[in-house]
Amino acid sequence: MTDAREVRTACPYCGVGCGVQARVAADGTATVRGDPGHPANAGKLCSKGSALGETLGLDGRVLHPEIAGRGTSWDAALDLVASRFSETIARHGADAVAFYVSGQLLTEDYYVANKLMKGFIGSANIDTNSRLCMASSVAGHKRAFGEDIVPGVYEDLEQADLVVLVGSNTAWCHPILYQRLLAARAERGTRIVVVDPRRTATAGECDLHLQLRPGTDVALFNGLLAHLVGSSAIDRDYVAAHTSGFEAAVSLACADAPTPRRVAETCDLDSAEVSRFYDWFAATARTVTVYSQGVNQSAHGTDKVNAILNCHLATGRIGRPGMGPFSVTGQPNAMGGREVGGLANQLAAHMGFDDPQAPDRVGRFWRTAGVARKPGLKAVDMFEAAGDGRIKALWVMGTNPAVSMPDAGKVRAALKACEFVVVSDVTRTDTSQFADVLLPAAAWGEKDGTVTNSERLITRQKSFLPMPGDVRPDWWIVTEVARRMGFAEAFDYANPAAIFREHAALSAFENDGARLFDIGGLADIEDSTYDALAPLHWPFPRGASAGSQRLLGDGRFPTVDGRGRFVAVRQEGAALPVDAAFPLVLNTGRLRDQWHTMTRTGRVPRLMANAPEPAVELNPVDAAALGIADGDLVRIESRYGGGRAKVAASAGQRRGEAFLPMHWSGRFAANAAAGALSAPVTDPFSGQPELKHVPVRIARE
Ligand code: SF4
Repeated sequence: MTDAREVRTACPYCGVGCGVQARVAADGTATVRGDPGHPANAGKLCSKGSALGETLGLDGRVLHPEIAGRGTSWDAALDLVASRFSETIARHGADAVAFYVSGQLLTEDYYVANKLMKGFIGSANIDTNSRLCMASSVAGHKRAFGEDIVPGVYEDLEQADLVVLVGSNTAWCHPILYQRLLAARAERGTRIVVVDPRRTATAGECDLHLQLRPGTDVALFNGLLAHLVGSSAIDRDYVAAHTSGFEAAVSLACADAPTPRRVAETCDLDSAEVSRFYDWFAATARTVTVYSQGVNQSAHGTDKVNAILNCHLATGRIGRPGMGPFSVTGQPNAMGGREVGGLANQLAAHMGFDDPQAPDRVGRFWRTAGVARKPGLKAVDMFEAAGDGRIKALWVMGTNPAVSMPDAGKVRAALKACEFVVVSDVTRTDTSQFADVLLPAAAWGEKDGTVTNSERLITRQKSFLPMPGDVRPDWWIVTEVARRMGFAEAFDYANPAAIFREHAALSAFENDGARLFDIGGLADIEDSTYDALAPLHWPFPRGASAGSQRLLGDGRFPTVDGRGRFVAVRQEGAALPVDAAFPLVLNTGRLRDQWHTMTRTGRVPRLMANAPEPAVELNPVDAAALGIADGDLVRIESRYGGGRAKVAASAGQRRGEAFLPMHWSGRFAANAAAGALSAPVTDPFSGQPELKHVPVRIARE
C-alpha cells in the first residue's frame, strides 16, 4: 500500500454531508473511511457511509451511450438529443420540453442544467426529486424569512437544552447528526422531544414522544403558539422590532388550538403530555426544532413548516447559539440544487419569479434575452404533462421517477407515452428502460464538484477513480447538448471550477445584500484553490475571510421590509381521508441501511442483511383483526396501485396505520413499492406530494 493516495471527498447519501477519505491502492481498488477533519462528522460514518467502498464496482453500470437500446457514439447520441429538443421547441414552444433532475447531481451539474433550461431554452420546466424531499421547507422559509434560509448550524443541536424532532427519524435518516446530539446530551442533559406518529428508533430514546395522529402537526404548533402567549413566553421586544403578522397568526392559532386539551383531542394525544411539551418549550431559551420529511411530505407541509417557524419567531429564537428552526434535507446536495435555482418555481441563485426584476437581472448576467419569466411545472405536474402530450421531450438526470414518484404506475405510463425520453444515469434503473437515448453518467468517486449540506456547508466532492467505459460527468453531458443546440459561447467551460466561479459570481451579481445567498468571495477562485477547497459555510461574500455560521440572528430578514413574517395557518383535515374501502393510513419512509431506490445500497450484502425484503408494519391488534400473523405475506392496495409485502407486527405503530419502506422497486418484481401506492396529491404552496397519509387496505394473500 505504499503507493496508495488519499482523497478527501463527501458522502453521497444524506443531507448531513459527512466528509470521507477515499484511499486508492496501487491496484486501483479503493477503501473509504470517515474524514476526521470534516466539521460535519469528525471522522465518523454511519452504516451506509462506511459501506461506500463496497458500492464502487461496475455491476449494473451504464458504460456507453445507447440509442433505442443499442450502443452508439457520444456524437451520435448528443446530436440526437440536441436535435430532438431543438425541433420540439421550434415546433411546439419551449414549454414542450422538460428536465427532471436530482439531488444526486453536484452543484456544477445542477447549475448548467438550470442555465440551459431557464436561460437559453427559455422555459422553467426543470424540477428535481428534491421536490419530494424538502420543497415545503423551501416554501415555508420563503414565506417567513423572504428567502430559503436555514438559519442554524449543527453545533446548535449540541448547544441546545431542548431539541424537538418533528417528523424526523433522525437516528436512521441522519445518523451522524443524531450521534452528535446524543453525545451532547450525555454531557449537558439535553431534553429530546420526538413528534412522530411512529415509535421509531429516534422516539425510543427521547424524553417525550408525542405519537400524534398523522397530519395534525399544525394543531400541535398552533397550540404551542397559543400557550406561549398565555404563559408570557413571547419575546415582545423581538416581535415588535423584527416581525409582522403576529396578531393574525396568534388569533388564528388561539381559535384553532386554544388549549392543550383541545390539541390533545385533535392530535389524539394525552393532554398532560401536550402541556409538558409546551411548558418545556416555553421555559427553554436554547431550543432547536428539527423538521424533516414527516413535515414536508404532506399536502399541508408548508403550513406545518410555518406553524413551527411562528413559534420560533414568537420567542426570537432564530439564528442564535443553541436555538432555531432547523430543516434537515434528505439528499447530499438538496441545498446546492436550491442554491442554483433547480426547482421549477425558482430562477437562479435564490432569485425567484416573485421578483419582477429577477429574469432581466439573470439575463444580463447570462447575456441572454430569453430567460424564462414564469415558473415551470413541478414534478407531479411535469409527469402528468408528459403523459398527456404537453411535454414532448423529457430528460431525466440521475433519478428514478418510475419508482420514486407518487402514482408511479401513471408515471411509467407517462414515460412510455412521451415522444422522446433521455435518461442520463450511473446505473440501469426502472426509469432507464423507457429511454430513447441512454447516457452514461459519472458516479460518486468519478466526478468532481461541490455539494451543500443541511447546515449550508459547501464541501468538495472529488474524483478518485477513473471514469470507466465512455462515462462522462453530468456537467459535460449538459454542456455538449447546449453547444449542439447553438449555445456554445454560454456553455464553454473547461472544468467544474469554471462553472463554480460563474455560479459564485451570479450569487453576487447586482446583489446589494438583499439576497443572503452570496458566495461572491469565491467568484475568482483559482482551479488549484477550488481543488483544495476546505468545507465552507455560505454566505461568503467578496471580502469575507470566513463563511457565516448562523444567519438571521440580528433580527434582519431578507424581506421587503426587513421583517420576519408570521403566517397564520389553520389545521386542515387529511387531503385523503380513509373510508370503508381503504380504512388504513399508509405512511412511508426510510430504513437505516438503504438509500433511495436501492440502486447503490441494494448491491451491498451487509446493508441488505437487516431487511432483505419489504415489510409493512402493522399494529398487532389491527393485524389480528385482519386475521394476519406476524410474517404473513399480504397484499396492500391503494386507489393508485398495489403490491405484496410481509407483515411486521409492531406495537410502535398506531392503530389504524401502516408503514412501508420507500426503497423497493419493480426490480424486486411484485414487491410493494411505496411510490406505486402513493397519491399524486400535493401541497398547494410547495407542490410537494403527500407521501405520509395514503388510504390503503391490507389483506392476507
Ligand atoms: Fe453519509 Fe449521511 Fe451516513 Fe453521514 S450520516 S455517512 S452523510 S449517509
